[in-house]
Amino acid sequence: MVEDATIDFLIVGAGFSGLVAGERLSSAGFKCVVVDQRSHLGGNAYDSADRGGVLIHHYGPHYFRSNSQRIVDYLSKFTEWHPVSYQIKSFTDGRFWSFPINLNTFEELIGRPSSTGEFENWLKEKRVPFDKPKNSEEVILSQVGHELYERFFEGYTIKQWKHHPRDLDPSLCARIPIRTNRDDRYLREEFQALPKDGYTAMFERMVEASPDLELHLGVDFEEAKARWNYRHLVFTGPIDGYFGRRFGALPYRSLRFEHEGFSADELRAREAISGKVGFWQPAMQVNYPDPEVPFTRIVEIKHATGQQIGASAITREYPRDWNPELEPYYPVPREEASLLYRRYAELAGREASTSFIGRLATYRYYNMDQVTGMALTEAEKLIARYGSTENAQA
Ligand code: FAD
Ligand code: UDP
Repeated sequence: MVEDATIDFLIVGAGFSGLVAGERLSSAGFKCVVVDQRSHLGGNAYDSADRGGVLIHHYGPHYFRSNSQRIVDYLSKFTEWHPVSYQIKSFTDGRFWSFPINLNTFEELIGRPSSTGEFENWLKEKRVPFDKPKNSEEVILSQVGHELYERFFEGYTIKQWKHHPRDLDPSLCARIPIRTNRDDRYLREEFQALPKDGYTAMFERMVEASPDLELHLGVDFEEAKARWNYRHLVFTGPIDGYFGRRFGALPYRSLRFEHEGFSADELRAREAISGKVGFWQPAMQVNYPDPEVPFTRIVEIKHATGQQIGASAITREYPRDWNPELEPYYPVPREEASLLYRRYAELAGREASTSFIGRLATYRYYNMDQVTGMALTEAEKLIARYGSTENAQA
């Protein structure tokens, strides 16, 4: 037990960033305490079974993907994988559409079979040329023109962010692939899979494998500061919160998740819509770009987890304004927000004994593999800086 004692590292946040850093540092012989103000580990990637036994993602769908063998190899120490070809749809004009935009979407638009050549010619006429797209509207207009942009992107983005795509960073909508063949996968990365037994099971194995790591849930940073003396702090919470929001609050976007479970009997009535026994909707995720629909998407994660169970569950995502009482799910990809972040990052740079890693502490729209990579790199630096096992606290 290292509780209420002097430790090497206090790590705030038990999500991907905090647990990966904790596992690496404790495996190098350092005494680590990881705290999280939530009652569970895993951060936003937390999953667990609902009342019907269906494994659900509590904070929105978490589709693991990566182009980095180093990151996949590292996580593979704690999980096997269930390969998934992530497929989604969009629902607008009263019907489901193939999405992200691909040749099938074009055929649905024109109402007859077509070819890549015809679609490419059509796009050539529709595209709005920009030398270098400066915002998310220009990114999409430069690839597909007004008709498809307005149908699939404009309304969705305004609903999700309460900002027009032209006021948001180009990288945001550039996340979505656009293809002229029939490849309808949502994501581009080479490795696409979910942890076989879920994220929570993977994190639990990570903690079990960490020789000198204690996890304390339901403990926030203020309480932790009073309980442990530490040599170095690894902070993965919101950076503006750490500095008392002295330059003003960074903007975040929050969400409300509405989970609903269905028994196998209830799902029978949905078979005509889902096209599959035991499912509520035809794909893992259906996006709703229409402004009059209050949610952005409905996720039925059972399509991706491959769980063999008669029941199923869906999650509707309702975007909402953030305030300090709510979870800060998304940093807002806008120039003014990154300028404000840079002021906090400058302060962070002066804190010799604190590392700021993860989506919230670096205020970046990072995916899980990216924060894993960041935590691995930071742990290596800290191990080099604080020396080998011999120099760690006895
Ligand atoms: P988090 O998971 O946010 O963990 C930070 C932890 O710190 C939290 O548990 C929080 O409670 C704790 N904390 C904060 N402040 C304090 C404090 N003061 N005291 C104590 N504890 C504190 N990524 C993908 O790769 N694929 C996806 O499909 C995907 N989908 C997403 C969908 C949604 C709706 C959201 C919001 C994110 C999605 N992400 C996805 C991103 C993914 O969630 C993040 O990359 C990842 O969770 C970041 O891990 P983290 O440890 O940096 O932060
Ligand atoms: N987007 C959109 N229409 C869609 C899907 C995405 O306009 O049907 C835009 C929207 O601005 C969204 C961004 O593309 O925030 C990134 O989408 P992604 O699905 O990657 O969002 P995330 O899963 O991170 O919420």
